[in-house]
Amino acid sequence: MLGTTAKQPAADEPMEDAEEEEATADLAAFQREYEDDHSWEALQEDEFGRLRPLDQKEEQRAKRRRLLSAAASARIRRGMIRYLQVVVDLSQAAAIADMRPSRLAVIGGVLQGFIREFFDQNPLSHLGLVVLRNGVAEKLTDLSGSPEAHIAKLRAALDCGGDASLMNALETATDALKSIPPYGHREVLIAFAALSTCDPGNVLDAVKAAKQHRVRVSVVGIAAEVHICRVLTQDTGGTYGVALNEKHLEELVNEHAPPPPARAADAAASLVRMGFPQRNAEGFAGAAFVGADCKLGDGGYTCPRCRARVVELPSSCHVCGLTLVSSPHLARSYHHLFPVPAFAEVSADELARLQGCRRTPKAKPQLWPEVPWRAHCYGLDPQ
Ligand SMILES: [Zn+2]
Repeated sequence: MLGTTAKQPAADEPMEDAEEEEATADLAAFQREYEDDHSWEALQEDEFGRLRPLDQKEEQRAKRRRLLSAAASARIRRGMIRYLQVVVDLSQAAAIADMRPSRLAVIGGVLQGFIREFFDQNPLSHLGLVVLRNGVAEKLTDLSGSPEAHIAKLRAALDCGGDASLMNALETATDALKSIPPYGHREVLIAFAALSTCDPGNVLDAVKAAKQHRVRVSVVGIAAEVHICRVLTQDTGGTYGVALNEKHLEELVNEHAPPPPARAADAAASLVRMGFPQRNAEGFAGAAFVGADCKLGDGGYTCPRCRARVVELPSSCHVCGLTLVSSPHLARSYHHLFPVPAFAEVSADELARLQGCRRTPKAKPQLWPEVPWRAHCYGLDPQ
């Protein structure tokens, strides 16, 4: 370190000293702020070496709430094939450090998790990314069904500055969504960190255009409630929530992973043509030019209509536009139509009194009076 400094011209030395002092002051301020914060004390290690919160009840309650709400809404019609534009606010407001380590890092992490969850729950859907930075809305990825491609692009673009413009965001998202087929459900999810919007025109015109094109806009606020976001979500039928902390932000964003209820206007039944391609042989025997980029590779899938090779499923054929899926993708989407039924909850004390009887079903009649949820609980015996 000393050697390097000695080689620098003399004029740079005061500047380097100032930078070093600033870095030391920053570190001292950081340590002062978090010296009483022992966040590791709220964690414990489980049998697999993973860190878990001490109180797992809250986690279990949240899981149960999700299951119950899915069971309660089993009869609601939902849009299975979704086209979602995710808009990320990367203006100056995203650099504020009121979330740890910064809003930018938290938003990045939450959205990466959300993209995986979204494709896990909606394998037939498409997602695109738009970022708001320096007053403009920049399209990061086109609507497509490949989670890893979106995540890689998002990771590379996590840099913030300038103002956020809701109008530009809405126009860019609506432009991308207005040409999708009528059976697709058009949605926009905005992660909004700023407290104002800096627009080139009237933002209400963009709201009207979104409504006209049947785009459902939802907003997750990171700072505080903003009136225009409330108006925007109410007009287009979306939801609006403001995050209280990092955990709440994750919950609010992940609420958008299951498909929302379909509006009556969008609920007309329509037939969608789909192809179920076979996987090709791998190795030299299967060598072919694969995908829209025509890269030489092996394996891939052959479109049953035009015999073009595509790289992955689910996707659209780059030649004839046919939607290509596999049967597990359809089965996973049906999960939202036929959710797991609600189950009866038992207290931990009651559970502790029970053990498996390991006997043949002959013992059932004696057990039944003592087991209140007997309809679901076979072969349990009080100690
Ligand atoms: Zn094709």
